Amino acid sequence: MGVDGVSDRLTVSRLGGFLEWSLLMPRALVTGVTGQDGQYLAEFLNQQGYEVFGLVKGQSNTRADIVAEEFPFIEMVSGDLQDLTSLVSALEHVQPDEVYNLGAISFVALSFKQAELTANVTGLGVLRMLEAIRIVGGRDNPMRFYQASSSEMFGKVRETPQNEQTPFYPRSPYGVAKVFGHDITVNYRESYDMYACSGILFNHESPRRGMEFVTRKVTNAVARIKLGLQSELMLGDLSPRRDWGFAGDYVRAMWLMLQQDQPEDYVVATGETHEVREFVQLAFAAADIEDWERYVKQDERFMRPAEVDLLVGDATKARTKLGWKPSISFPELVTMMVEHDLKLESDKLRH
Ligand code: GDP
Repeated sequence: MGVDGVSDRLTVSRLGGFLEWSLLMPRALVTGVTGQDGQYLAEFLNQQGYEVFGLVKGQSNTRADIVAEEFPFIEMVSGDLQDLTSLVSALEHVQPDEVYNLGAISFVALSFKQAELTANVTGLGVLRMLEAIRIVGGRDNPMRFYQASSSEMFGKVRETPQNEQTPFYPRSPYGVAKVFGHDITVNYRESYDMYACSGILFNHESPRRGMEFVTRKVTNAVARIKLGLQSELMLGDLSPRRDWGFAGDYVRAMWLMLQQDQPEDYVVATGETHEVREFVQLAFAAADIEDWERYVKQDERFMRPAEVDLLVGDATKARTKLGWKPSISFPELVTMMVEHDLKLESDKLRH
């Protein structure tokens, strides 16, 4: 299928009327659909004319209920990356054309505390999904697979900037589990001729980012400080550098990877790197607070046993082969997040 494969299929089938159209609509199954990337990807796929299914776990999953209400076009399917049988059932039910595996224990600091769980979900979960695709998919029913790999795999970086050939040196149980997920995806592609791709995405943020990540923690605290609801912001190390992009841009790259003739792996990044300190400074500035150092305190609790110092990606391959490039700059991203949190916190005050 070429880049236009999906839309071609939709145009042709639309001529045949609604029934055929809905039968021919491409179907995507997204794990981790309740997370930041899952939400952006589901929205994007819906706009592209997909039927979108989200894999959710548990008996009463409050987060899934909230997302289902906000995105009524997503059909939730029950399943768990720790349970192969449930993945087989989910695939049998959905019969997807594309599977996006975004589900993971994704917070690095938590992965040090729950290393085994992280290995099981973030690492072995990938293997289970690939096996499920082998069982349910096959020649008559090929299912394309996207694995959410991470720049955390580069960890103690071997070269700068990092590209698809850069050796991995993960620095956390999360990074180690992601390396397994990445390698097993490549292995299944090479062993079983599967259309499986791995996107090595550098940090990507948005107003939908979880509060545990430093960017959102900062923008939310800045909003609360501005509104007089909070007087200080406790942070860990301000010197690590990250390549931060906008999540909405990054899900487009995921989709593009699955529309190529050949399955390959791609680095997705902005190519710019900034210190945590710079993010903090810009966030305060976006709320017209210049003396930010008054409010920021260092707290041992937010330091990590091992740190990733400098991440910056070289996305030349994604740019040339996929035609992908980011649309939101670093200052625009920071401002977007601060403005969102200012509105969120003032709305809460009003109600
Ligand atoms: P990560 O790149 O996936 O680990 O994303 P995070 O947003 O969790 O962390 C980015 C960087 O910010 C890491 O190097 C952290 O050590 C650093 N950092 C400094 N203070 C904090 C904090 O209070 N919370 C978090 N999450 N990270 C912090």
